[in-house]
Amino acid sequence: MTPCLLIRNTARLFREAGVPDPETDSSLLLSYLCGKPPLSLRLDTETELTQDQVDSFFSMANRRIRREPLQYIIGETPFLGRSFQVDPRVLIPRPETEELCRWVLDTLPESGSFSVLDLCCGSGCIGLSIAAERPSAAVTLSDISAEALDVASCNASRLQLQVALHQGDLTAGLPQDFFDCVVSNPPYIPSEECIRLQPEVLREPGIALDGGADGLSFYRRIAEQASRILKEKSCLFLELGYGEADAVASLLSSAGFSDITLRNDFNGIPRMLMAVSAARRKSDV
Ligand code: GLN
Repeated sequence: MTPCLLIRNTARLFREAGVPDPETDSSLLLSYLCGKPPLSLRLDTETELTQDQVDSFFSMANRRIRREPLQYIIGETPFLGRSFQVDPRVLIPRPETEELCRWVLDTLPESGSFSVLDLCCGSGCIGLSIAAERPSAAVTLSDISAEALDVASCNASRLQLQVALHQGDLTAGLPQDFFDCVVSNPPYIPSEECIRLQPEVLREPGIALDGGADGLSFYRRIAEQASRILKEKSCLFLELGYGEADAVASLLSSAGFSDITLRNDFNGIPRMLMAVSAARRKSDV
């Protein structure tokens, strides 16, 4: 069987199973197995694949037909030009989160010492990308899930990055008045919507998705807690769920944050927010 034919036949099976991007996923899967670019495989009507290649391809394709996310089947996914290991213990990094991370990087100094926290780090994609791009930064990755921290730790080793790992419920156990920058992509999907998600998303950890009854429960807690761990006049960056921007902005402004700035994602949806922690009053010190 040739790559072109295998990709086409499998894309048909994927389509029947309701897989969202059947051709793309079929060619990415073969690309992963053969180590060749997906487009050249799609166009290859000559090479005969070995039986071993076809067998391995089908065992992975069958998992995709059962709507397992491609990234879990392959075991890795790209994020800002680096490959991150992912499995069902962590959320699969999204392109919107790359945009958030790029925004953070744009605001961070090129050198000098400063501390950054990736709160609810999951795979560690945000914090580790920052650690890689800003070697002088002291980066902490924190999550409540020990399983997620295991994945983040593997990713730190894969990328040969030194970071601090912290397990805790949001900011519990993190030092006071310590971080120059806190960035978080917390769970933000309203609980009721979590059961209606597409089959692939249902394979992701519920703990990384479920933002409570109105989707805002983590933002409420972050608004209450973030000032304690941030230095004064320091930046908090958040990824936001659909339609949540105004509510989160007002939570932060009530909690004393200023200079609240929203940014749209590539779909034109307000998806991220930056806010600055208050200057300490003399009575606070
Ligand atoms: N920080 C990780 C990501 O952005 C995980 C987020 C989460 O688990 N909610 O992909």
